Amino acid sequence: MCYFEQTRWPCGYWKWGNFREQCEKEYRTGETCGLKLVYSWQPAQGMCKICEQKCKKERRIYKMMNDISRWQREGNRRATIEKTMQDVNDIQCQINELLATHVERERTL
Ligand SMILES: [Zn+2]
Repeated sequence: MCYFEQTRWPCGYWKWGNFREQCEKEYRTGETCGLKLVYSWQPAQGMCKICEQKCKKERRIYKMMNDISRWQREGNRRATIEKTMQDVNDIQCQINELLATHVERERTL
């Protein structure tokens, strides 16, 4: 077991930081035994990278939905609307994947 620093975000996401202390089992210099333990942790400011990406994608969806309702009012834009709906679906799938990664990370703390 080797000790590492850890960074934690308010949302529950975390990542490993610098290596701090080697365990007795591991004698190779500069190597770690693979089992990481928390040495100490620091709170991170703002959003984690996953929440940031999720936010950006949600803003894109919001904008696309606005476009769609404008096109629906204007009429005659059926193909564009269908294409954009497809994009909205794709981005929604990406958001779901991000959320799953986030939840997975929160669980493994
Ligand atoms: Zn997050």
